[in-house]
Amino acid sequence: MSNHHALVPRVRNGEGWFGTSVNWLTSRGRLLVPGFAPQQVQQRVLECFEALDLGLAVWDEHGQQLMSNKANARLQDRVESSSELAQQGNPQGPYMRLLSGNRWVLTFQATSTAGYRSTARVDVTNLVRRVKELEDRVRSLALESATDALTGLANRRQFDAVLLAEWNRAARTQSPLSLLMVDIDHFKKYNDRYGHLTGDQCLRRVAATLLLCARRAGDFVARFGGEEFVLLLPGADLDEARDTAQQCLDRMREVALPHAASPVAAFVTLSIGVASRTPEATEGVVSLINAADAAMYRAKSDGRARYEAASQLDWDIDDETPRTQPAVL
Ligand code: GH3
Ligand code: MG
Ligand code: MG
Repeated sequence: MSNHHALVPRVRNGEGWFGTSVNWLTSRGRLLVPGFAPQQVQQRVLECFEALDLGLAVWDEHGQQLMSNKANARLQDRVESSSELAQQGNPQGPYMRLLSGNRWVLTFQATSTAGYRSTARVDVTNLVRRVKELEDRVRSLALESATDALTGLANRRQFDAVLLAEWNRAARTQSPLSLLMVDIDHFKKYNDRYGHLTGDQCLRRVAATLLLCARRAGDFVARFGGEEFVLLLPGADLDEARDTAQQCLDRMREVALPHAASPVAAFVTLSIGVASRTPEATEGVVSLINAADAAMYRAKSDGRARYEAASQLDWDIDDETPRTQPAVL
């Protein structure tokens, strides 16, 4: 007996599904090869199936397995009976299965009109791995595109999206929304004095310090641009927003980053504009940014190292209104 007969014991020359099929094909001249007997042709065909890196198996209408090649044995954890396969959700549809050793196998199934069942199994582990890698990459790219690379805070793009969502939510629920616009004082002088790399370190320290001041769930800190940061405080009224601004100033004083070139203090200080609003349904979100911005510039012109809350005038400014007062001559 040849090797593959040992592997497929129920298939003998001209017997079983396979033999019948070969005989059928042979009788129609499809597998007739001059100089070879049908049995030899059958043997060659079985050898081909055996060599294929695709799991092939066939059952008769009583659930008896008629053939199973080597790859089929490798691509299943245990021998499946045809009734087990029939229990799958869609017995004819392909399905994926995770085998031991983290191998993914895709199985196709078919049933002939005579009730014979066949399966073809493909090892798709590498494909699944590649898809998972791509999914991870997409996730990390999405994260990167929302994050400021220097400080690790949310970037301007993410801030714009979160701000709009929170503004609309605040208008819907008629709850307050507060914004702190934070700007490092005399940061150009800091760079000039310590160099841009130390300037970058300073930005990271400020970012980490501001994060510590955003304590409530939903509080959101972002780098607005350059040496400007924002804290968005959903649900916080003006008093709570003032408290948070004071905390930012206090914590920066505790961190005490030396700034020998600063005209206002020996350490790095911040100027903060605070704006709080329960938005009207028709009101645009830019009014909140403009008000916080105007208050921040007032903190600058009032001496820096402080916060200022937006006044009614600050809410009325538009994009054309100059933020800074004309310099005193
Ligand atoms: P003011 O107190 O009025 O805010 O003065 P300022 O010097 O802080 O403001 P100005 O707008 O004149 O300068 C901001 C500086 O911030 C200039 C720019 O080089 C620096 N800056 C912006 N982004 C970065 C950055 O990513 N790294 C470093 N090191 N510096 C930056
Ligand atoms: Mg600035
Ligand atoms: Mg500045």
